[in-house]
Amino acid sequence: MTENKTFTIIKPTAVKNNYIGPILAKINEANFKIIALKYLKMTEEQAKAFYKVHEERGFYSELVNYMSSGPVVVAILEKDNAVEEYRNFIGATNPADAKEGSIRKLFGDSLQANAVHGSDSNENAEIEGNFFFSLTERF
Ligand code: ADP
Ligand code: MG
Repeated sequence: MTENKTFTIIKPTAVKNNYIGPILAKINEANFKIIALKYLKMTEEQAKAFYKVHEERGFYSELVNYMSSGPVVVAILEKDNAVEEYRNFIGATNPADAKEGSIRKLFGDSLQANAVHGSDSNENAEIEGNFFFSLTERF
């Protein structure tokens, strides 16, 4: 992946709240192109591996439990300057601080259940996309 791609997860609470459709619609409206998409449930081991960068943080085990608690949607998105554009589009980590109209403001429930994940760098977008998708699963 290059600088026009990012990786996202629609988190378990957003899936449970039937926000897959509304969130994907917003992603389309904002001109992100979906080039890979899957509905799946992570095992605890997979969530641990995915969030390994956060293993020293106090919320790590809670986050791992939460992210493996139910099905999620994972996707690779394409747009110019995708990582920065998507972070701006989803809003601040805590939905309470996220700007009006942002995904986390509209669909987030709490700091943990903040509707979506978005990669924080091109390097991590590549690592995260590769974690879930093989070469034949992206178009
Ligand atoms: P972001 O998702 O905005 O990049 P981080 O990478 O800092 O935020 O954190 C990863 C995820 O961990 C957040 O999206 C959120 O679900 C959860 N999280 C972050 N900070 C906390 C916290 N203080 N307490 C509980 N969960 C947190
Ligand atoms: Mg992050």
